Amino acid sequence: MKIVLISTYELGHDPFGLASPRAWLEEEGHQVRVLDLAVEGMEEGAIREAEMIAFYLPMHTATRLAAPVIGRVKGLNPGARLVAYGLYAPLNEALLRELGVEAVAGGEFESSLVKLARGEAAERICLDRLRFRTPERRDRRGRYAMLVSGGEKKRAAYTEASRGCKHLCRHCPVVPVYQGRFRVVDAEVVLADIRQQVAGGAGHVTFGDPDFFNGPAHAIRIVTALHREFPGVSYDATIKIEHLLRHRKLLDTLRETGCAFVTSAAESLDDEVLARLEKNHTRRDFLEAVALTRAAGLTLQPTFIAFTPWTTIEGYRDFLRTIAELGLVENVAPVQLVLRLLVTPGSRLLELPDLEVGPFDAKSLVYPWKHRDAEVDALGRRAFETVARLQKENRSRAEIFREVASLVSMPLDNFDLTPRAAVPYLDEPWYC
Ligand code: SF4
Repeated sequence: MKIVLISTYELGHDPFGLASPRAWLEEEGHQVRVLDLAVEGMEEGAIREAEMIAFYLPMHTATRLAAPVIGRVKGLNPGARLVAYGLYAPLNEALLRELGVEAVAGGEFESSLVKLARGEAAERICLDRLRFRTPERRDRRGRYAMLVSGGEKKRAAYTEASRGCKHLCRHCPVVPVYQGRFRVVDAEVVLADIRQQVAGGAGHVTFGDPDFFNGPAHAIRIVTALHREFPGVSYDATIKIEHLLRHRKLLDTLRETGCAFVTSAAESLDDEVLARLEKNHTRRDFLEAVALTRAAGLTLQPTFIAFTPWTTIEGYRDFLRTIAELGLVENVAPVQLVLRLLVTPGSRLLELPDLEVGPFDAKSLVYPWKHRDAEVDALGRRAFETVARLQKENRSRAEIFREVASLVSMPLDNFDLTPRAAVPYLDEPWYC
């Protein structure tokens, strides 16, 4: 069978969610063409010939971008079987079916795609423990994210050592699909995937696991082997604040094995907001994680949801002041200063009695909400426009931070901002 797998966006990475199912489907004898529309154009010839076309929807932005693409693909090839897979496929099933998608496959989707290609029924959400194949990345091209560190750029590989998460944070889209479970990718498969990308020129690896320390022994086994085989290759991973504290003894190992930075979803510095999100950490825990990672010589890149229905103007000012006081201005991507809480289908946020949302918006794929204080929403809009404008002008993180701080009249004269080159980062600015 001729199959096309399409991705629209995955934070500037070469998607594991294309390369992994490609390996499974090719092993079954199918002819598979992968199209990553973030770096290449639509190949109309391949679309017209395909019998099955599957859209990879790992995140919100990817799903929004995919909606018009699905319509275009259907126009080009009305007879093909359309499938959507990845985390956001089951969450947006109703809308996807309206667009003409026949089947959705969430969770561990590789085996579901194999079944669908055989013409069999497949689970809407599969949480089986799979025996992964080495992702098939031959013939991949395109300009993906680079690690920028010390004025140098390195090509960044991308892989996943696990999927799902054992936690149940209210706002997280992983939760309605994995329901507190996570599944590991065999260490040998992860290492083989890294090996092929290093052979292709990568000097850095991004681990895209929702949380790298859901299985700390698995993670450490992989980075130790990675460092032994490729001592010059660095990596980054996402680890929640709670895990940074609980597994503090492993932080030295991360540094010693080449960890360039750790991303951590701090979300808020307000304990009331953190409690509503059920993040299982407090402001104090965040401060401790900053101190621990610093002591271990690790760069922490916290991410935030700056605007929630419970954000106050004073709380936002405190957020900015704390970032500056902690010397983290260079560690926080400007977009993190302006992100707004997304209430997605299936979200546990919908259980909160004090959260009022409007009807589902099929365009933005969220339940819209308004802050009870219109001033906070106005500030959020101004801050967003400021960041978008200054990023287009290629202004530095410090300059952007100053402009955003000026919106809430926050003086920054006493703060020393580290030069940009000292903090490693990936040159893909958008996280959502
Ligand atoms: S720890 Fe992270 S991935 Fe896990 S449920 Fe919470 S937000 Fe989601």
